[in-house]
Amino acid sequence: MALTVLNPATEEPIAELEQAGVEDTDEAVARAKAAYPAWRAVAPGDRGRILRRLATLVEENVEELARIESRNVGKPIAGARGEIGMVAQVFHFYAGAVDKHNGETIPVAGGVAATFREPLGVVGLIVPWNFPANIASWKLGPALACGNTVVLKPAELTPLSAIRIGELALDAGIPEGVVNILVGKGSVVGQRLIEHPDVAKIAFTGSTEVGRRVMQGAAGTIKRVTLELGGKSANVVFEDADLEKAAAAAPYSVFDNAGQDCCARSRVLVQRSVYDRFLDLLVDATRGVKVGDPEDEATEMGPLVSAQHRETVASFVEGEPVFRGDVPGGPGFWYPCTLVEATNEDRVAREEVFGPVAAVIPFDDEADAIRISNDTPYGLSGSIWTRDGARALRVARATDAGVLSVNANTSVRVQTPFGGFKQSGFGRELGMHALEGYSEVKSVFISTEG
Ligand code: NDP
Repeated sequence: MALTVLNPATEEPIAELEQAGVEDTDEAVARAKAAYPAWRAVAPGDRGRILRRLATLVEENVEELARIESRNVGKPIAGARGEIGMVAQVFHFYAGAVDKHNGETIPVAGGVAATFREPLGVVGLIVPWNFPANIASWKLGPALACGNTVVLKPAELTPLSAIRIGELALDAGIPEGVVNILVGKGSVVGQRLIEHPDVAKIAFTGSTEVGRRVMQGAAGTIKRVTLELGGKSANVVFEDADLEKAAAAAPYSVFDNAGQDCCARSRVLVQRSVYDRFLDLLVDATRGVKVGDPEDEATEMGPLVSAQHRETVASFVEGEPVFRGDVPGGPGFWYPCTLVEATNEDRVAREEVFGPVAAVIPFDDEADAIRISNDTPYGLSGSIWTRDGARALRVARATDAGVLSVNANTSVRVQTPFGGFKQSGFGRELGMHALEGYSEVKSVFISTEG
């Protein structure tokens, strides 16, 4: 069945693609399996050199890839350029990392044990629609560097950048069959990858609900699984913080990518003593977010990814919000920047909205801030704003989340591990940690007895 891909800013079709089915998935896995012995036999430094060529090709094609991503997801073009820049950085990082991911030698009775990092085999990569190229690269980079071959399934809504990256991988000299891109439904292609006996691991980013299905499906063949799932992160603002700086940053930690970000700090926790002042500053800063045509260089927020997703987002806003921004008229799946005052028990504070809606919640003191921050099934990211360094560290250590920032609103760096606590998933992407998820440690004992 054909798949029509839309531009969410115009609602116009931008591509018609054939969708893969179960048989195509089996064929892709067979291709990846056939390509595996030769790819794993390439010396790590040589795999690194090939990956570096891919990184360079992505850099040379930033503009084209950014335009594809912007049109397919509705991302502002300036931000899309940054994201594709990160794709190149990720490939550069793993190109350089792969020949430093060494084993050990361990002296033991009667000889010595050596450990080796072996690739897993065929890895299934299932990727969502919010950062299609970026999240694909977080998985492709370490998977390929370690010597695995892959079958990548982009989200149905946003397959275009993955297809182009697949072409560039071939141009870079990655052999046929090592990278296989399959456009198709999660319930068909994704499900088959999860259950396929020749797939050694699934690396999944998406909803917690589908993540649960991945774990269940993987049990049948004891597949390795890493899961990067939803979040409901807190932006905690203490009374001693630089309130102007915190308020200026806060909108971009939740409205960036129109809130379709698993790291969105969609709960803004504010100490009661500065609550009213901070709320005024936050409303002013949110009013300044430039919402509009993704092709405009000045635009900071585009539309949501689909009409259906807009309905879901809208369902979270009950009553009169404290602020609701403007959106362009005409076509496009627009939803305004929205601030609501809430308690941590309200649905808008408990569930992942995945849209430009922030819940502002007061707290009394440090202990209360930690309690509310951790009172969620998720544990992905968050921010802490304070001028007290000891408090920053205390709160960071007490927060059940994988990626935190102090006096800043960002979560993702190529060099640092990224992943969740609790129902935000497990396993780490990015940095040297990601290499652990795409290799097995093998221990070999060598007798030194005569
Ligand atoms: P999903 O979890 O459904 O989609 C993520 C990926 O999984 C897509 O490639 C999807 O394919 C695939 N998939 C779907 N069903 C299956 C299945 N049964 N087996 C294997 N793979 C499957 O996310 P949605 O797109 O439905 O978004 C729903 C919500 O999930 C969002 O509103 C948000 O709350 C959360 N989410 C979180 C993300 C994150 O970064 N942590 C990213 C995306 C969503 P296909 O597109 O073909 O269905």
